[in-house]
Amino acid sequence: TVGWGFIGTSNIAKQWMAAAVRHQPGHEVVAIMSHSLSRAQMYAQDLKIANAYDSFTALLADPAVEVVYISNTNEQHKPAVLAAAKAGKHVFCEKPLALNLADAAEMVSACKQAGVVMATNHHLRNAATHQAIRAEIAAGTVGQVIGVRIFHAIHLPQPLQTWRVNDPKAGGGVVLDVAVHDADVIRYLLAEDPVDVMAYAQTGGMASAVEDGAMTILQMPSGALVQTHESFMVPYAGTGLEVHGTKGSIVARDILTQRPAGTVEVITETGRRQLDIQHHNLYHYSLAQFAQAIAGNGQPAVTGEDGLKSLAIALAMLQSAEQGQRVTIDYPA
Ligand code: NDP
Repeated sequence: TVGWGFIGTSNIAKQWMAAAVRHQPGHEVVAIMSHSLSRAQMYAQDLKIANAYDSFTALLADPAVEVVYISNTNEQHKPAVLAAAKAGKHVFCEKPLALNLADAAEMVSACKQAGVVMATNHHLRNAATHQAIRAEIAAGTVGQVIGVRIFHAIHLPQPLQTWRVNDPKAGGGVVLDVAVHDADVIRYLLAEDPVDVMAYAQTGGMASAVEDGAMTILQMPSGALVQTHESFMVPYAGTGLEVHGTKGSIVARDILTQRPAGTVEVITETGRRQLDIQHHNLYHYSLAQFAQAIAGNGQPAVTGEDGLKSLAIALAMLQSAEQGQRVTIDYPA
């Protein structure tokens, strides 16, 4: 059995990740930790996890733990990743990896030096919809990509309106929460890394001390422009993504979600064509690839380096919004 230790009694651990680990043949969640032992025990009982701890040091000392999944608040990812690497455990870390690039770079390099696999939990590129869009772009269906528009304005459910909307020290705010995913999507779809960014952010009433809405334009090396809109305060927009090229357009709806859902339509001179998407669970897909990677076959779907790059883009968005200026994205070597 490949034993997983969960660092963080989070909503996502309960809602998606414990089941996703168990869906992987031979993988089991064997331990969980919280800053509060009673909370860890509650989760352990609820999710039928054998061991509960109140520190990551104790969890990492458990010989049954071979992999850690880190999903506590964002400022706590770094110490957990560094300790896991030191203990020789593979790392599956939530996004954003950290609150600044130096920390994220240190985490990636610690895993590399320790010879452990590191993955970042950007789920969207594991969706059949996103994979189909990337394949259409790569096949040249839309010709030269001129522009991409990403609509990711949603309503943050009331129970999640905690550190995300009021705690800058925990890495709250819509940019580190949502736009960082869009940064990964754009790198994946266009297979190139944005060069620079102009962004505006707003604090529209749900959040305090952090932004709850943002609009960004990214410039790609190919010359394509990418426009993104993220919000915590828009209940009825629905999500979507459009790719517009010289020979065609791709219009996708409801695809910026954790659920295996959404539609993709391709429009060219021959007419409109709805893609036949065979949906699959996004987290099952990424864990299958991660399981292969720790067995020595290939890379995780989203590596630590990918997480470092999406963070570089998100931080540049924040800097641009704050300074009212165009920012060239700083990708650590
Ligand atoms: P939660 O807000 O549910 O939990 C985060 C931490 O807050 C927990 O680890 C826990 O600390 C503490 N906590 C939560 N609820 C309570 C409570 N009632 N009482 C005391 N402490 C509490 O986190 P999310 O699931 O919303 O997010 C966790 C991470 O996952 C973040 O990094 C986020 O960005 C990422 N995320 C990623 C998604 C994806 O699809 N990739 C989706 C959602 C989140 P402790 O463990 O010490 O008890």
